[in-house]
Amino acid sequence: MILSGMSTMDQIRDNVATGYQSKLAVPCTACRYCCDGCPVKIDIPAWMNLYNELSLTKDKKRWEEAVKAQNGPDTCIGCGQCTSHCPQNIDVPGYMKKLAAGKY
Ligand code: SF4
Ligand code: SF4
Repeated sequence: MILSGMSTMDQIRDNVATGYQSKLAVPCTACRYCCDGCPVKIDIPAWMNLYNELSLTKDKKRWEEAVKAQNGPDTCIGCGQCTSHCPQNIDVPGYMKKLAAGKY
């Protein structure tokens, strides 16, 4: 529920932005804290960005092209190193599974 405690336009804007983010976007800031330790060298923020793009566009051709890349989401071994370094607590391996399966 995002309506509680709204008394100014700024608060309303913030709450709408938060609601929008939580529904539609992975909140990756591309800080890359997760990247060096990935044993299979996935460019994690690039894939999080693509996930966000695909969740809006549903562009299957774009997905088909992207998943042909080396070090793609299908190479994720689910080690969890990335999530343990992520300030946003993003479930990266979960999103990698979704991306590999074309679920976005
Ligand atoms: S869970 Fe996947 S993406 Fe994250 S560090 Fe491990 S192999 Fe890389
Ligand atoms: S640590 Fe989290 S926020 Fe930073 S790039 Fe990796 S997934 Fe994105």
